[in-house]
Amino acid sequence: MYYLTRQTAFEASHYNRIPELSDAGNFELFGAAANPNSHGHNYVLEVMVKGSVDVDDGMVINLVTLDALLKSEVLANYDHKHLNHQHPIFAKNSHLQPTCENITIEIWQRLVASLPEGMLHRVRLYENAANFADYYGEGPMVYLTKVYEFSAAHRLHSHALSDEENQEIFGKCNNPAGHGHNYILEVTVKGDVDAKTGLVAGLNFLDEVVQKQVHARFDYKHLNLDTPEFEMLNPTSENFVKVIWDVLEPNLRPVVLYRLRLRETPKNHFDYYGE
Ligand SMILES: [Zn+2]
Ligand SMILES: [Zn+2]
Repeated sequence: MYYLTRQTAFEASHYNRIPELSDAGNFELFGAAANPNSHGHNYVLEVMVKGSVDVDDGMVINLVTLDALLKSEVLANYDHKHLNHQHPIFAKNSHLQPTCENITIEIWQRLVASLPEGMLHRVRLYENAANFADYYGEGPMVYLTKVYEFSAAHRLHSHALSDEENQEIFGKCNNPAGHGHNYILEVTVKGDVDAKTGLVAGLNFLDEVVQKQVHARFDYKHLNLDTPEFEMLNPTSENFVKVIWDVLEPNLRPVVLYRLRLRETPKNHFDYYGE
Protein backbone atom coordinates (compact mmCIF):
# COMPACT_ATOMS: atom_id res chain seq x y z
CA MET A 1 0.00 0.00 0.00
CA TYR A 2 1.29 3.45 -0.95
CA TYR A 3 0.24 6.77 0.56
CA LEU A 4 0.39 9.98 -1.43
CA THR A 5 -0.30 13.46 -0.08
CA ARG A 6 -1.19 16.47 -2.21
CA GLN A 7 -1.45 19.98 -0.84
CA THR A 8 -3.53 22.88 -2.04
CA ALA A 9 -4.69 26.13 -0.48
CA PHE A 10 -7.65 28.46 -0.54
CA GLU A 11 -8.60 31.75 1.04
CA ALA A 12 -12.06 32.19 2.47
CA SER A 13 -14.03 34.23 4.97
CA HIS A 14 -16.59 32.97 7.46
CA TYR A 15 -18.12 33.37 10.89
CA ASN A 16 -19.46 30.86 13.39
CA ARG A 17 -22.84 31.83 14.78
CA ILE A 18 -25.79 29.81 15.97
CA PRO A 19 -28.91 31.78 14.95
CA GLU A 20 -30.84 31.00 18.17
CA LEU A 21 -28.05 32.20 20.45
CA SER A 22 -27.60 35.79 21.58
CA ASP A 23 -24.61 37.80 20.41
CA ALA A 24 -22.96 37.29 23.80
CA GLY A 25 -23.77 33.57 23.71
CA ASN A 26 -22.11 33.20 20.31
CA PHE A 27 -18.98 35.03 21.41
CA GLU A 28 -18.80 32.88 24.52
CA LEU A 29 -19.01 29.71 22.43
CA PHE A 30 -16.91 30.62 19.38
CA GLY A 31 -14.71 33.44 20.66
CA ALA A 32 -13.65 36.01 18.06
CA ALA A 33 -14.88 33.65 15.29
CA ALA A 34 -18.43 34.81 16.18
CA ASN A 35 -17.81 38.30 14.77
CA PRO A 36 -20.89 38.79 12.54
CA ASN A 37 -18.81 40.91 10.15
CA SER A 38 -16.64 37.81 9.44
CA HIS A 39 -12.95 37.05 9.44
CA GLY A 40 -10.82 34.99 7.05
CA HIS A 41 -8.14 32.34 6.77
CA ASN A 42 -5.46 31.13 4.39
CA TYR A 43 -6.63 27.54 4.58
CA VAL A 44 -4.15 24.82 3.65
CA LEU A 45 -5.57 21.48 2.60
CA GLU A 46 -3.68 18.19 2.54
CA VAL A 47 -5.36 15.26 0.85
CA MET A 48 -3.84 11.84 1.47
CA VAL A 49 -4.80 9.00 -0.87
CA LYS A 50 -3.74 5.37 -0.69
CA GLY A 51 -3.58 2.48 -3.08
CA SER A 52 -1.37 0.15 -5.02
CA VAL A 53 0.87 1.34 -7.82
CA ASP A 54 -0.38 0.86 -11.36
CA VAL A 55 2.00 -1.49 -13.20
CA ASP A 56 1.83 0.53 -16.39
CA ASP A 57 2.18 4.14 -15.24
CA GLY A 58 3.90 3.54 -11.85
CA MET A 59 1.49 5.79 -9.97
CA VAL A 60 -1.23 5.49 -7.31
CA ILE A 61 -3.14 8.32 -8.98
CA ASN A 62 -2.12 10.84 -11.59
CA LEU A 63 -1.53 14.15 -9.80
CA VAL A 64 -3.08 15.95 -12.76
CA THR A 65 -6.31 14.02 -12.12
CA LEU A 66 -6.14 14.75 -8.39
CA ASP A 67 -5.43 18.45 -8.97
CA ALA A 68 -8.36 18.71 -11.38
CA LEU A 69 -10.59 17.14 -8.74
CA LEU A 70 -9.34 19.51 -6.05
CA LYS A 71 -10.01 22.41 -8.38
CA SER A 72 -13.56 21.40 -9.35
CA GLU A 73 -14.70 20.01 -5.98
CA VAL A 74 -12.83 22.16 -3.46
CA LEU A 75 -11.39 25.36 -4.88
CA ALA A 76 -14.49 26.15 -6.94
CA ASN A 77 -16.60 26.10 -3.78
CA TYR A 78 -14.14 27.53 -1.26
CA ASP A 79 -11.50 29.78 -2.79
CA HIS A 80 -12.18 33.50 -2.30
CA LYS A 81 -15.69 32.78 -1.08
CA HIS A 82 -17.66 33.80 1.97
CA LEU A 83 -18.54 30.34 3.26
CA ASN A 84 -21.70 31.34 5.16
CA HIS A 85 -23.09 33.19 2.15
CA GLN A 86 -21.65 31.52 -0.93
CA HIS A 87 -20.78 27.90 -0.23
CA PRO A 88 -23.35 25.46 -1.71
CA ILE A 89 -23.84 23.60 1.60
CA PHE A 90 -23.03 26.09 4.37
CA ALA A 91 -24.99 28.94 2.73
CA LYS A 92 -28.11 26.76 2.52
CA ASN A 93 -28.00 25.71 6.14
CA SER A 94 -27.33 28.38 8.74
CA HIS A 95 -27.38 25.63 11.40
CA LEU A 96 -24.30 23.97 9.90
CA GLN A 97 -21.32 26.00 11.10
CA PRO A 98 -18.32 26.31 8.73
CA THR A 99 -15.92 25.28 11.49
CA CYS A 100 -12.61 23.66 10.63
CA GLU A 101 -14.16 20.31 11.67
CA ASN A 102 -17.23 20.64 9.44
CA ILE A 103 -15.28 21.93 6.44
CA THR A 104 -12.91 18.95 6.70
CA ILE A 105 -15.85 16.52 6.63
CA GLU A 106 -17.52 18.42 3.79
CA ILE A 107 -14.37 18.26 1.66
CA TRP A 108 -14.01 14.53 2.40
CA GLN A 109 -17.58 13.93 1.23
CA ARG A 110 -16.97 15.79 -2.02
CA LEU A 111 -13.72 13.97 -2.78
CA VAL A 112 -14.72 10.47 -1.69
CA ALA A 113 -17.59 10.47 -4.18
CA SER A 114 -15.22 11.20 -7.06
CA LEU A 115 -12.30 8.91 -6.17
CA PRO A 116 -12.08 5.12 -6.60
CA GLU A 117 -13.52 3.30 -3.58
CA GLY A 118 -11.14 3.10 -0.61
CA MET A 119 -8.59 5.48 -2.12
CA LEU A 120 -9.17 8.54 0.06
CA HIS A 121 -7.27 8.07 3.33
CA ARG A 122 -7.23 11.39 5.14
CA VAL A 123 -8.27 14.99 4.72
CA ARG A 124 -6.30 17.46 6.80
CA LEU A 125 -7.29 21.11 6.89
CA TYR A 126 -5.17 23.85 8.45
CA GLU A 127 -7.17 26.91 9.48
CA ASN A 128 -3.80 28.42 10.29
CA ALA A 129 -0.36 27.02 11.07
CA ALA A 130 -1.32 26.33 14.71
CA ASN A 131 -4.71 24.71 14.22
CA PHE A 132 -5.79 21.82 12.00
CA ALA A 133 -8.38 19.04 11.74
CA ASP A 134 -7.94 15.47 10.44
CA TYR A 135 -10.76 13.34 9.07
CA TYR A 136 -10.61 9.67 8.06
CA GLY A 137 -14.23 9.11 7.04
CA GLU A 138 -15.20 7.76 10.47
CA GLY A 139 -18.75 9.10 10.85
CA PRO A 140 -18.70 12.36 12.82
CA MET A 141 -15.27 11.58 14.39
CA VAL A 142 -12.69 14.32 13.83
CA TYR A 143 -9.18 14.76 15.24
CA LEU A 144 -8.45 18.36 16.14
CA THR A 145 -4.91 19.60 16.79
CA LYS A 146 -3.72 22.87 18.27
CA VAL A 147 -0.05 23.75 18.43
CA TYR A 148 1.44 25.62 21.39
CA GLU A 149 4.90 26.88 22.25
CA PHE A 150 6.64 27.47 25.55
CA SER A 151 10.18 28.01 26.75
CA ALA A 152 11.93 26.16 29.54
CA ALA A 153 15.39 25.26 30.81
CA HIS A 154 16.40 21.85 32.06
CA ARG A 155 19.29 19.61 32.95
CA LEU A 156 19.18 15.92 32.08
CA HIS A 157 20.24 14.24 35.28
CA SER A 158 19.04 11.03 36.90
CA HIS A 159 19.17 10.71 40.67
CA ALA A 160 19.41 6.94 40.18
CA LEU A 161 22.85 7.32 38.55
CA SER A 162 26.24 8.57 39.72
CA ASP A 163 27.58 11.94 38.54
CA GLU A 164 30.03 10.10 36.27
CA GLU A 165 27.29 7.93 34.77
CA ASN A 166 25.07 11.00 34.21
CA GLN A 167 27.93 12.78 32.48
CA GLU A 168 28.62 9.74 30.31
CA ILE A 169 24.97 9.17 29.31
CA PHE A 170 23.72 12.74 28.91
CA GLY A 171 26.93 14.52 27.85
CA LYS A 172 26.45 18.25 27.35
CA CYS A 173 22.76 17.93 28.32
CA ASN A 174 24.05 17.14 31.85
CA ASN A 175 25.65 20.60 32.14
CA PRO A 176 25.00 21.54 35.82
CA ALA A 177 24.00 25.08 34.77
CA GLY A 178 21.32 23.70 32.43
CA HIS A 179 20.26 24.67 28.91
CA GLY A 180 16.89 25.44 27.34
CA HIS A 181 14.44 24.87 24.51
CA ASN A 182 11.50 26.44 22.75
CA TYR A 183 9.24 23.44 23.20
CA ILE A 184 6.45 22.95 20.67
CA LEU A 185 3.48 21.04 22.02
CA GLU A 186 0.85 19.59 19.67
CA VAL A 187 -2.36 18.74 21.48
CA THR A 188 -4.67 16.43 19.52
CA VAL A 189 -8.17 15.76 20.80
CA LYS A 190 -10.71 13.53 19.12
CA GLY A 191 -14.45 13.24 19.24
CA ASP A 192 -17.73 13.43 17.40
CA VAL A 193 -18.41 16.86 15.93
CA ASP A 194 -21.25 18.45 17.87
CA ALA A 195 -24.18 18.80 15.45
CA LYS A 196 -25.14 22.17 16.87
CA THR A 197 -21.77 23.88 17.36
CA GLY A 198 -19.75 22.11 14.65
CA LEU A 199 -16.96 21.69 17.18
CA VAL A 200 -15.07 18.74 18.69
CA ALA A 201 -13.77 21.12 21.32
CA GLY A 202 -13.83 24.89 21.61
CA LEU A 203 -10.40 26.34 20.88
CA ASN A 204 -10.97 28.82 23.70
CA PHE A 205 -11.45 25.91 26.05
CA LEU A 206 -8.29 24.15 24.82
CA ASP A 207 -6.31 27.39 25.13
CA GLU A 208 -7.56 27.96 28.66
CA VAL A 209 -6.69 24.46 29.86
CA VAL A 210 -3.25 24.47 28.21
CA GLN A 211 -2.51 27.94 29.58
CA LYS A 212 -3.45 26.90 33.10
CA GLN A 213 -1.95 23.40 33.11
CA VAL A 214 1.11 23.78 30.87
CA HIS A 215 2.18 27.40 30.49
CA ALA A 216 1.50 28.38 34.10
CA ARG A 217 3.57 25.40 35.26
CA PHE A 218 6.42 25.24 32.78
CA ASP A 219 6.75 28.37 30.61
CA TYR A 220 9.89 30.38 31.42
CA LYS A 221 10.80 27.91 34.16
CA HIS A 222 13.80 25.76 34.94
CA LEU A 223 12.16 22.35 35.04
CA ASN A 224 14.58 20.84 37.60
CA LEU A 225 14.62 23.87 39.90
CA ASP A 226 11.20 25.49 39.57
CA THR A 227 8.76 22.62 39.15
CA PRO A 228 7.84 20.00 41.77
CA GLU A 229 7.12 17.53 38.93
CA PHE A 230 10.85 17.32 38.15
CA GLU A 231 12.31 17.68 41.60
CA MET A 232 13.27 13.99 41.48
CA LEU A 233 12.27 13.08 37.92
CA ASN A 234 14.78 13.42 35.06
CA PRO A 235 13.25 15.99 32.62
CA THR A 236 13.79 14.00 29.44
CA SER A 237 11.15 14.65 26.79
CA GLU A 238 9.83 11.12 27.36
CA ASN A 239 9.15 11.97 31.01
CA PHE A 240 8.02 15.49 30.14
CA VAL A 241 5.39 14.44 27.61
CA LYS A 242 3.87 12.03 30.16
CA VAL A 243 3.87 14.69 32.89
CA ILE A 244 2.02 17.03 30.52
CA TRP A 245 -0.45 14.26 29.60
CA ASP A 246 -1.15 13.62 33.28
CA VAL A 247 -2.03 17.27 33.97
CA LEU A 248 -3.92 17.89 30.72
CA GLU A 249 -5.99 14.73 30.28
CA PRO A 250 -8.19 15.00 33.42
CA ASN A 251 -8.69 18.72 32.92
CA LEU A 252 -9.78 18.37 29.29
CA ARG A 253 -12.54 15.86 30.06
CA PRO A 254 -15.12 15.26 28.70
CA VAL A 255 -12.99 16.22 25.65
CA VAL A 256 -10.89 13.15 24.80
CA LEU A 257 -7.16 13.71 24.57
CA TYR A 258 -5.84 11.52 21.74
CA ARG A 259 -2.17 12.37 21.34
CA LEU A 260 0.52 14.75 22.60
CA ARG A 261 3.51 15.51 20.41
CA LEU A 262 6.35 17.33 22.13
CA ARG A 263 9.08 18.87 19.97
CA GLU A 264 12.20 19.57 21.95
CA THR A 265 14.12 20.81 18.91
CA PRO A 266 13.28 20.68 15.18
CA LYS A 267 15.35 17.49 15.09
CA ASN A 268 13.34 15.41 17.54
CA HIS A 269 9.80 14.97 18.71
CA PHE A 270 8.07 12.58 21.09
CA ASP A 271 4.52 11.21 20.76
CA TYR A 272 2.47 9.94 23.66
CA TYR A 273 -1.01 8.38 23.52
CA GLY A 274 -1.55 7.70 27.23
CA GLU A 275 -0.90 4.31 28.79
ZN1 LIG B 1 -12.28 31.08 11.42
ZN1 LIG C 1 17.54 19.65 26.41
